Amino acid sequence: MQVECQHRDEHSCRFILSGALPSFANAVRRAMASEVPKLAIDSVGIYDNTSGLFDEMLAHRLGLVPLRTETGTYVPIEECTCEGQGCDRCTVSYTLSVEGPGMVWSRDLIPNDPEAAPAIGDIPIVKLENGQKVVVEARAVLSTGKAHAKWQPTTICGYKNYPVLTVAAHCDGCGVCVDACPRRVLRLTGRTVAVDETRIEDCSLCRLCEKGCLSTGIGDQPAVRVGTEADRFIFTVESDGSIPAAEILRQSVRFLRGRGDELARALDEIAEA
Ligand code: SF4
Ligand code: SF4
Ligand SMILES: [Zn+2]
Repeated sequence: MQVECQHRDEHSCRFILSGALPSFANAVRRAMASEVPKLAIDSVGIYDNTSGLFDEMLAHRLGLVPLRTETGTYVPIEECTCEGQGCDRCTVSYTLSVEGPGMVWSRDLIPNDPEAAPAIGDIPIVKLENGQKVVVEARAVLSTGKAHAKWQPTTICGYKNYPVLTVAAHCDGCGVCVDACPRRVLRLTGRTVAVDETRIEDCSLCRLCEKGCLSTGIGDQPAVRVGTEADRFIFTVESDGSIPAAEILRQSVRFLRGRGDELARALDEIAEA
């Protein structure tokens, strides 16, 4: 199995996974979205809310604000020695107090741990008119996307099989498929259609080129054919800002390795029994 990183920055990464089964690629995708823990606001105490939003809606919006999560700093509250009471090891507290007129922004959430501040400060929460007020206390805990989407650290997390395009000998070079392709993956030189290898990874597998070719009356089979490599995948991952994208991938692989070890131990026990 091979991983080739094509792009990586704080918020996103793109890589090619080769030599893997589709089930493994899907397990990596699911682990990134559902098994990597991050902080999210889980309970909100509302002292004052004269805004146009119901308390429940306000709490819901606060829950969706991505919070920076340093790996290993906090433990899930269910595993903490405080037994669910909430302490410095498992819980971050926030205060928010804003009076109108003006917008309540995510940056108005002030944490007791500066490292767990909102990852994006300019998310609008609610607009306050003159005299309206919001005063809340909130508590964030660590959990995973499996429990609720607000603990999902990815905004985009997907893959596609690596595209393979072929042009058969009965192509007459009419160029219809080139015009039909929205991603400009095909190009026409004289009467010859070829795949632009620098753009092949942009192919969305939409098959509009095949449809275009069939519309020319070429017969039952289009001359251009769209296929995929069964064991090669192009992954795109984008973080919501809570955890760097590469760290999300690292943690998901660690999770899968842990699950694999668990399975191996269980199989050993069964074999010994
Ligand atoms: S499948 Fe779609 S994106 Fe890919 S080459 Fe054909 S028309 Fe273009
Ligand atoms: S539409 Fe079909 S026949 Fe025309 S150039 Fe494309 S592949 Fe060849
Ligand atoms: Zn605790």
